[in-house]
Amino acid sequence: MHLKATITVKKLRCKGCGICVAFCPKHVLAVDALSKVFIRDAEACIGCGQCELRCPDYAIFADKVKGAAV
Ligand code: SF4
Ligand code: SF4
Repeated sequence: MHLKATITVKKLRCKGCGICVAFCPKHVLAVDALSKVFIRDAEACIGCGQCELRCPDYAIFADKVKGAAV
């Protein structure tokens, strides 16, 4: 299984609002007990970029893996 995108979380910026979790169509993300987002299922990511687009705090980045078909 090839990953479609590399998800990077800047934990210091994340406030755990859950917006990215709600907009992710593949349930890749979740918020932990410390109110920080984490990647619970990297292989499910389709690289749509919604998490990066919707985060109000620029705390998450979706970098498409070169050559990956979406
Ligand atoms: S939208 Fe941004 S601030 Fe909110 S939980 Fe996701 S990464 Fe954290
Ligand atoms: S790029 Fe899309 S599928 Fe991947 S974690 Fe972000 S919202 Fe979810």
